Amino acid sequence: MQPTEKPAEAVARLRATFRTGRTRTLSWRTEQLHGLRAMLTGHRQELAAALHADLGKSEREAFRTEIDFTVREIDHTLERLEGWLRPEPVDVPEHLGGASAWTVLDPLGVVLVIAPWNYPLQLLLAPVAGALAAGNCVVAKPSEVAPATSRAIAGLLPRYLDRDAVTVIEGAVPETTALLEEHFDHIFYTGNSTVGRIVMRAAAEHLTPVSLELGGKSPAFVDRGTDLAAVAARLVSTKFLNAGQTCVAPDYVLTDPATARELEGALASAVRELFGADPATSGDYGRIINERHFDRLTGLLGSGRVVVGGDSDRAQRYLAPTVLAEVAPGSPVMAEEIFGPILPVVEVDGLDEAIAFINDRDKPLALYAFTESVLTRDRLTTETSSGGLGFGLPVAHLTVPDLPFGGVGESGMGRYHGRYSLETFSHRKAVLDKPLG
Ligand code: NAD
Repeated sequence: MQPTEKPAEAVARLRATFRTGRTRTLSWRTEQLHGLRAMLTGHRQELAAALHADLGKSEREAFRTEIDFTVREIDHTLERLEGWLRPEPVDVPEHLGGASAWTVLDPLGVVLVIAPWNYPLQLLLAPVAGALAAGNCVVAKPSEVAPATSRAIAGLLPRYLDRDAVTVIEGAVPETTALLEEHFDHIFYTGNSTVGRIVMRAAAEHLTPVSLELGGKSPAFVDRGTDLAAVAARLVSTKFLNAGQTCVAPDYVLTDPATARELEGALASAVRELFGADPATSGDYGRIINERHFDRLTGLLGSGRVVVGGDSDRAQRYLAPTVLAEVAPGSPVMAEEIFGPILPVVEVDGLDEAIAFINDRDKPLALYAFTESVLTRDRLTTETSSGGLGFGLPVAHLTVPDLPFGGVGESGMGRYHGRYSLETFSHRKAVLDKPLG
């Protein structure tokens, strides 16, 4: 945003740009994507430093899960955009003989992207890339909870993108509340479901469609008879990524009592293997975003028997990768999304009880399962509902650009990544042409 500009003025300026029609052209869209790419690749170190300041993310993790992730998303789109934008013909029924019909993707106008703090770069700029690819003007609102990343993006973005079409508005609740009073053509929000409801209410005033990318407790079912060392390695590397502050992290493990006993040991070994005997000294292990979340998380440690971890240092916002065993379904750690480095193991009697357990709760953003059984896979696919479903490897489905990423029910609505971003930020317009002759 320009220094003295109010949200209403910024939106009006962007809308005037949209009206010129220049954002509709393929050349404008690709220029913006190349600009965003140049910003990310040209300032890799600076952006990684900001992510380190906010979340203690290692450079490697910052590159892999934020900067390079977004670059790959942009490249995937750049390679295919022209094809995706081609009109798609459809069959015409007999009574309209001689007519032809097709659909075209129409940009929506001015869209608002609101991002959270946990992947503060990726979760702002991947949707922004989709909105630009679709030919829109964009107001980008980074999270104030990750202030270094917010400042870095606000400083860099205007140097690389069309300033009259893309603007960054930094701020917290008052600034976002003021923004939400404006009329947007789409609002793309990532964050918690309480604020998701606020966003949706505000959007309803203008009949603005929303995408809500929310969270929830994503279960990981471990079947008996699977290779538990391999399961533990994959659970640990995905759960404790970004110190557990990942929307699609496995929130808790569901397994039978005998498997639980064996898995505990395997999880403890996998934690030591990945982060060493003292994870506080590991360069690969992140920190909790702030004291409020640190206090919330340490308050959950009493919910089960500590198998590994449990130690913490408030001054460093350090909480060790922790596994809790014998966790009761009604315990505090099972009440809400953990969003931190605590992995509870909850015991169920087998697949039937696991499915009932999942279906008794809100629909999660992801469901994971480790099983060799085709029947178990089929049953989990057809008898449960979740945003995504991962067999054998948590989190990774969101790195496949041709897979839609999004939630269902309490974990959100709408989807994006790759072609799905283009669909989200466009209107698929129906066209019919029947010659007069
Ligand atoms: P956050 O506190 O950064 O809030 C998200 C955004 O909402 C911020 O930009 C913030 O400024 C804005 N906001 C906060 N309060 C507001 C209000 N009262 N009115 C208007 N705007 C407001 O992030 P968070 O909500 O703590 O993020 C964590 C949650 O997000 C978790 O539940 C997590 O699972 C979810 N999440 C989901 C995804 C996904 O892709 N589905 C990704 C990451 C995080």
